[in-house]
Amino acid sequence: MAESNVPVLAVKDLKKHFPIRKGLLRRHVGNVYAVDGISFTIGVGETLGLVGESGCGKTTAGRTVLRLTEPTSGSIEVGGTEITGLSKADLRPYRRQMQIIFQDPFSSLNPRMYAGDIVGEPLLVHGVSSKKERAEQVAALFARVGLRPAQMSNYPHQFSGGQRQRIGIARALALGPKLIVGDEPVSALDVSIQAQVINLLKDLQRERQLSYLFISHNLAVVEHISHQIAVMYLGRIVEYADTRSIFTRAQHPYTEALLSAVPVPDPAIKRKKLVLQGDVPSPVKPPPGCHFHTRCPYAVARCRIESPPLREIAPGHHVSCHLR
Ligand code: SF4
Repeated sequence: MAESNVPVLAVKDLKKHFPIRKGLLRRHVGNVYAVDGISFTIGVGETLGLVGESGCGKTTAGRTVLRLTEPTSGSIEVGGTEITGLSKADLRPYRRQMQIIFQDPFSSLNPRMYAGDIVGEPLLVHGVSSKKERAEQVAALFARVGLRPAQMSNYPHQFSGGQRQRIGIARALALGPKLIVGDEPVSALDVSIQAQVINLLKDLQRERQLSYLFISHNLAVVEHISHQIAVMYLGRIVEYADTRSIFTRAQHPYTEALLSAVPVPDPAIKRKKLVLQGDVPSPVKPPPGCHFHTRCPYAVARCRIESPPLREIAPGHHVSCHLR
């Protein structure tokens, strides 16, 4: 197989269950089924948007893919290599290839460090020991993300929210990664700043053939950056397709509901409105059958008993619903 055909990331049946322990003996009394068997691939220079309400498991999925949290089971291949069983030392070269940008650019930056040292830290950790060389690389990264190299000696509090997220991006870029996981990377920013940061990420993707796993609760945000979108509900992917299909031919009632909250720019286009009642049920005791049946307006008796598999209903379009 040609190297370019190997996905940057291929995840198969990935599960992350957190055990719940109680009492003096720390007895295992249950699990939080945060991620419950998800599969997806991300190609070179592609973005997968991972979308769902708070508590659906998308952040855990992102952290597990990077092995910041150990998976319970399943497979994670990076550039064709299985990384789930690798020791810390063997994982090191793959860590370089995969970086993360966090939601809150303020709390993710050490307030006592100069911005330049924050961006240069991964270089130091991974063996770029010459101070001069690091300073040159950091200055180039600052310039590339739209910051002035003179700002390298400022502290994080001296930057605006958007600028702090640019520091986070520069830091993620420092080791020349192939994949960046963005965990709600623009959610804390004003709408106008969101667009600037998304445009920067898109430019960097074009220049460096970067791949992104872009996690967000907001479909409107992922629309502009994603090639594919996976919609998550209670630890599982319920719909997975290219971005256009999700926005024009969504098939899962949960995706329909998320789309109902997205403003339509053309008033001539009518979109079916589906407003969900209630909150996401607890991942400690997910509803039997289809996890979504407690909130689905179309639920039938079968939905309460039988879990719908994720089926391919059109080329590349996968849906988990008995009625599709
Ligand atoms: Fe709704 Fe049933 Fe489809 Fe689940 S399987 S989304 S409950 S119609």
